[in-house]
Amino acid sequence: MTEKYDIAVIGAGAAGSMGVLRAVLNNKKTIVFKGSRATNRRSRAMWVKKVVNMPLMFDRKRAITESVDEVFEWIDGHEYFSEKLTTISEEANKVEKLADGTFKITDANEEEYLAKFVLLCTGIMDTQPEIQGSIKPILPFANKGDVDYCIRCDGHKVINKISATIGHTKTAAWVAALLHERYSPPEMKIFLNGKEADWKDDAELNELIRVYKIKVIPGEILSIKANEQRDMQAFEIKDGESSIEESVEVAFPMLGQIAYNELAKQVGAEITDRGNVVTNEKGQSSVENFYVAGDLRQGKKYQIYTSWDMAVDSVDDMDAKLRKEYREQAKSEALTNK
Ligand SMILES: Cc1cc2nc3c(=O)[nH]c(=O)nc-3n(C[C@H](O)[C@H](O)[C@H](O)COP(=O)(O)OP(=O)(O)OC[C@H]3O[C@@H](n4cnc5c(N)ncnc54)[C@H](O)[C@@H]3O)c2cc1C
Repeated sequence: MTEKYDIAVIGAGAAGSMGVLRAVLNNKKTIVFKGSRATNRRSRAMWVKKVVNMPLMFDRKRAITESVDEVFEWIDGHEYFSEKLTTISEEANKVEKLADGTFKITDANEEEYLAKFVLLCTGIMDTQPEIQGSIKPILPFANKGDVDYCIRCDGHKVINKISATIGHTKTAAWVAALLHERYSPPEMKIFLNGKEADWKDDAELNELIRVYKIKVIPGEILSIKANEQRDMQAFEIKDGESSIEESVEVAFPMLGQIAYNELAKQVGAEITDRGNVVTNEKGQSSVENFYVAGDLRQGKKYQIYTSWDMAVDSVDDMDAKLRKEYREQAKSEALTNK
């Protein structure tokens, strides 16, 4: 545990992989905790397939995981840089800031590592709708891309499709209105899934729902119907003692998020009500030298390219601090040697 890394990157999705690449290209001694099968499975990175809102991504099958693999392969293939990088294929489970400002990171095997800076890139996950108490029924359709979570990435899929949002909050209603304004799908619906709509007091939203003829369906979703090709076709909705079917081909759950902020909480970083970490423009949290990039950072677009940019800004800021330390040391050594 005596070895001290310049930079520890936690998470290796969109933000983490770019953080690692920038750190080694900046010639910094870097350690990355890539996460485990379990963290990968519950990460957004895993769910991203066809990306059409970014150049060079169109032909990718799994845009983020493929680009992450490429980053590590490239580093592995370049000895100068690979010598800079230690890879831990595990979760980081604990982060502690020691009295001298160094961070101690403990992985799932109870191994401990020291680093001057931390870049936390553990991301978030979208909350799934429950159908008869389980999220399982939605997953095959999320996997297939009939159920989507990111308007900026997949909003265009509603073109010529019977479309819906799922949720009872104002966000679900505003997103339905936005999708109508942008793409005018043949039908736009909001599925409340048995909950009370919370926009009753919002005159503008109510007017838009009326003017745009958005259908609000209050009943609980009981099941999802598909055709032989397994394309989503309809939701079965509870209707008193029986049920009705409501057609829907593309749906966007708008139910909030789960933020993977546990490690930020451990070091006492400030967190918003939604669970994102509050940072300055370079991504430094309220804890000095503890940075956050990607979806977990507050107030940014949840996108691959913004995650990349955030990671670069943060690592460059760490680099500026490390170079300042280097500069001061070089000057003082020059004085001593005079
Ligand atoms: C269905 C879907 C489609 C999308 N499509 C697009 C698109 O077309 N274009 C676009 O720009 N964006 C898209 N996005 C958004 C994009 O996926 C995110 O913005 C991006 O993945 C955020 O990067 P991140 O690094 O913050 O998190 P992620 O990429 O999710 O990476 C988080 C990483 O942290 C790891 N991790 C978690 N906890 C730990 C731990 N304790 N220790 C170590 N590692 C840990 C995980 O294993 C994972 O590797 C989409 C999102 C979804 C859900």
